[in-house]
Amino acid sequence: MISHDPVKPSRMTLVFIYTCPFCQNEVMIPAPLEPSNVRCGSCRNVFPIVPVDGPTVQYIHTMLLNGRAAAVTD
Ligand SMILES: [Zn+2]
Repeated sequence: MISHDPVKPSRMTLVFIYTCPFCQNEVMIPAPLEPSNVRCGSCRNVFPIVPVDGPTVQYIHTMLLNGRAAAVTD
């Protein structure tokens, strides 16, 4: 079954990019709010990341109505 009406985004997530210190591969992490260790998908090494600020992320979500306000209309 195919829907004929294009679907708008229902919500969003902010993705942050961290450069692996071992191989310079870019690792994409959706809004990491706590310090944690991530594994590089390329070289498989693990490295700690600096988290992002929760209120800042929340502000952007609010500004974009959790992504719905960013949808192209017409
Ligand atoms: Zn790496």
